[in-house]
Amino acid sequence: MEPSAPASAAGYRCNKIEAVSCQLTADSFNQPSTLPRRLRFLLRWVFWYNIELVWLAWRFPRKLQDEAALDPIADERRREAHLALAETTAICARVCADCGRCCFEEVDRFTPFDQIVRRNTDIPAPSGNLRIYSLPWMVWNAIAHGFQRLFRLNRHRTPPPCRYLSSEGCSLPREDRPMICVSWFCPRSALAMDRAAMDAAESPLCVIESLHREALRSTKRK
Ligand code: SF4
Ligand code: SF4
Repeated sequence: MEPSAPASAAGYRCNKIEAVSCQLTADSFNQPSTLPRRLRFLLRWVFWYNIELVWLAWRFPRKLQDEAALDPIADERRREAHLALAETTAICARVCADCGRCCFEEVDRFTPFDQIVRRNTDIPAPSGNLRIYSLPWMVWNAIAHGFQRLFRLNRHRTPPPCRYLSSEGCSLPREDRPMICVSWFCPRSALAMDRAAMDAAESPLCVIESLHREALRSTKRK
C-alpha cells in the first residue's frame, strides 16, 4: 500500500510502535546493576547481531533455489517471536515515534531470509532483496544521512518511505512484518528498554536469529 505524502518523518509511528508509554528515565542509566546488563544487550543485539546478519547475507547464493525452504513450523516460531517482541519492545514506542527513521528508507525489508522461512506457508513473503544488508549500500546510506544532518540539507523534503508505511504506521500486522523490522535495534531504541524488557526480548530475538541461520543452511542442502 502506497502511503500518501507525509508532512514529516516524526509524524509517523513506525516499526516497534504500538504502545505509547516511554520509560526512558535517568534511572534507566543510573542504576548500577542495570549498566552491565545494558552493555551486554547493546553488544549482543545492536553490535553483534547486525554484524552476524550481514555476514549471513553475504554467504547467500546469488540465485535462490525454489527448494530452499524451512518447515512451516519454523514460521510458527517466527510468528510467536514477532508477537512476543511486540510486547517486550512496546517500551521503545515513544523514541521510535519521535524518530520514525527506520520506515523512511526506500529499500525492501523483506529479504530471502523471510522468503525461505515463509515459503511453505499461506502467507509467503511478498518479496526478497538483500540490498539492506549490502555493505556498499549501508556505507552510501550512512554517508548520505551524515551529510544531510551535518549540512541540514533537504530539511523540507520528506524521505521516501517504505511501501508499507501508512499514515497510521506500518500497514502490516506485526507477525507479517519483515524479520528485520521487529528484531532490529539502534542504540537509541535499545537504551529505551528497561531490564525486564531486555530480559524478555532475549528469547524471541534468539529465535529470530536462529531462523536466519536455518534459512541460510537450507540453501546449502542438495
Ligand atoms: S514493513 Fe516498512 S513500514 Fe512496516 S515496520 Fe518495516 S519498514 Fe516500517
Ligand atoms: S529503531 Fe532507532 S532509528 Fe529506528 S525508528 Fe526507532 S529510534 Fe529511530
